[in-house]
Amino acid sequence: MGDYKRIPIWKDIPEEVWEDWQWQIKNRITTLDAISQFLILTPSEEEGIKKSHGRLSMALTPHWVTLMDPNDPECPVRRQAVPLADEFRFGTNEFVDPCAEDRDSPVPGLVHRYPDRVLLLATEQCAMYCRHCTRRRLVGEKQVSSVNSKTIDAAVDYIRANKKIRDVLISGGDPFMLDTQELEEILKKITNIPHVEFVRLGTRLPVTLPQRITESLVAMLKKYKPLWVSIHFNHPKEISKRCKVACDMLADSGIPLGSQTVLLKGINDKPYIMKKLMQDLLKIRVRPYYIYQCDLVKGTAHFRTPVAVGINIIEKLRGFTSGYAVPTYVVDAPGGGGKIPVGPSYLISQDKGKHVLRNYKGKIYTYIE
Ligand SMILES: *Cc1c(COP(=O)(O)O)cnc(C)c1O
Ligand code: SF4
Repeated sequence: MGDYKRIPIWKDIPEEVWEDWQWQIKNRITTLDAISQFLILTPSEEEGIKKSHGRLSMALTPHWVTLMDPNDPECPVRRQAVPLADEFRFGTNEFVDPCAEDRDSPVPGLVHRYPDRVLLLATEQCAMYCRHCTRRRLVGEKQVSSVNSKTIDAAVDYIRANKKIRDVLISGGDPFMLDTQELEEILKKITNIPHVEFVRLGTRLPVTLPQRITESLVAMLKKYKPLWVSIHFNHPKEISKRCKVACDMLADSGIPLGSQTVLLKGINDKPYIMKKLMQDLLKIRVRPYYIYQCDLVKGTAHFRTPVAVGINIIEKLRGFTSGYAVPTYVVDAPGGGGKIPVGPSYLISQDKGKHVLRNYKGKIYTYIE
């Protein structure tokens, strides 16, 4: 599917090979030599690629490569995946672990910050490494992984011992990078805990490696309902035909889909781009959930916008398009305060039961209690 045959190195690849997600993983573009075959790199990209070995090394799935514009260094798909020299310039307000996840981690691989829910990091691997990744301290290819069946079992024991936990968010890394059986083992253990009411999975694979959403994966997931899936989407270009097929398979099997978007300078910081992204997500049955202010993670200053940019985006969405297309814009508080919603204020004043409000067009109304 798609027009991958226009890329010379893959022109003779048969469709069924292209559709094999393991083939896509094995054939990721990870070196300067390989990428130079189809992109004319800028000096900054060249330097970024040379330096980015180790954590969060460059890795581009062949599917992702087909979405990149080889002639435009500002292409939003390319910008998110090909490192720049800027990643190695650190600002003074930047941190390795900006949201202090490690501090709120009672056992390795588990973050317990809110009263009734936890975040479980099930793997350190992703199909494609986003240059803006908040978990760049953890995520990437490594010889020895720090997540294994022992750490998962310890996390499951912690959840079982804490009856207040009713919601488990499995993320990483990307949980769909696990084999279907491995992921099923984890889901089985968690859903067997009586007080766990539902599980959600955070993934980017429907976007970066849609071939991973196979019939057998979907059939397995269906057994663990209620199960929700949150998908990381940052730009309308990411919603390829192939991505749509993957989201359809998930939605058709009854899995509710939500989105998470990171506000990124030069990529999606214009209201018209965000509006198109949110509207296009609804067309593929993905309900916009969060827009995140870009965290203060080391080496991401070139991606960050002022907070006012995010507030203005919400201002330009609310009322002007479907309410379903308006996510919540949040700042994940530095130091571990959790997600804090920020947005335009529609309440102008409030006094003795008299509320002065403005609507999306700026007209003033009064509501008296
Ligand atoms: C985002 C997050 C959650 C889930 O938060 P919701 O607002 O319920 O989606 C849970 N734990 C941690 C540590 C998180 O960062
Ligand atoms: S998919 Fe998520 S965890 Fe993986 S590199 Fe991108 S932002 Fe980081």
